[in-house]
Amino acid sequence: MAVLAVDIGATKFAAAVAISPIGAVPGDESTAARPAALRHIHQVGVPPRDVWETCRELLRRVVGAASADEACGGADFEVTVVGIAAAGPVDVRTGSTAPLNIPEWRDGFPIVAAVRELFPAADIRFVIDGAALALAEYRVGGLRGVRSGLAMTVSSGIGGGIISDGRVVSGRTGNAGHVGHIVVPGWDVPCACGGAGCVEAVASGMSSVRWAREQGWPGTTGLDLARAAEAGDPIALAALSRAGTALGQAISSAAATLDIDRVVIGGGFAESGGPLWEPLRAAVARHARLGFIRELEILKSPITDGATLVGAAALASE
Ligand SMILES: [Zn+2]
Repeated sequence: MAVLAVDIGATKFAAAVAISPIGAVPGDESTAARPAALRHIHQVGVPPRDVWETCRELLRRVVGAASADEACGGADFEVTVVGIAAAGPVDVRTGSTAPLNIPEWRDGFPIVAAVRELFPAADIRFVIDGAALALAEYRVGGLRGVRSGLAMTVSSGIGGGIISDGRVVSGRTGNAGHVGHIVVPGWDVPCACGGAGCVEAVASGMSSVRWAREQGWPGTTGLDLARAAEAGDPIALAALSRAGTALGQAISSAAATLDIDRVVIGGGFAESGGPLWEPLRAAVARHARLGFIRELEILKSPITDGATLVGAAALASE
């Protein structure tokens, strides 16, 4: 069995071959950033046009590299399963994705049909990126050992995926886990989804930078904001406190709804340290009061790179 893992991100595409099931190799979890099972990882930025041609070329490159590698079977290498994780919204019923940041695909691109044309004999599996993230955390990351948990990413946006009773939750159209659009009280900020007051509109890296700049802070990135907070800048501290509080509120609501043991948070903005995490934990302590979530654990993700690709490989090798 040869597994091809594909990550259709909003800003980059990545693909790799998995030579064994993710998490099945002893020690895989200690290399959660890049499990030992993954080989021939290639990636490419999403171009402004000819998007599918660029993706197809990437897949050919990965398969070509695997065919030249004896560890992958050499000349006998043949893709039998493809796991695709795509930025959403997706529609798993039609096998299509319409990432907000890819204008050429705005009306939905039939990614499953396109990949099937390349690998007609392969079994093609398709999920939203948040579901792949949850699977990666469950197999080799911070959700190992729990039956029910939430994986989140907090970076320029906020996304997530749910594991319930040991299975990833998909939903009617495959879009379950869109935790970035949990509405949080106290802020009525317009959101990119068209609504208002979503946690992503308050607490993402981009939203926090925008708010800080409106208060007169001169920086431009989430990383700058974290550094400024660490140095004691009052606006940066207020921005991270605001983000942490909103995240803690959203997490409390999600935990009560889902009845989960653990929340794992990855993404660049989650690296902001105490100025983000202390208000987050304080908000959870205030709002998550029901007995069954009082022991809720909230951890930073141990997966530092390529979680979605790892999840796509896990999906394909289940
Ligand atoms: Zn929203």
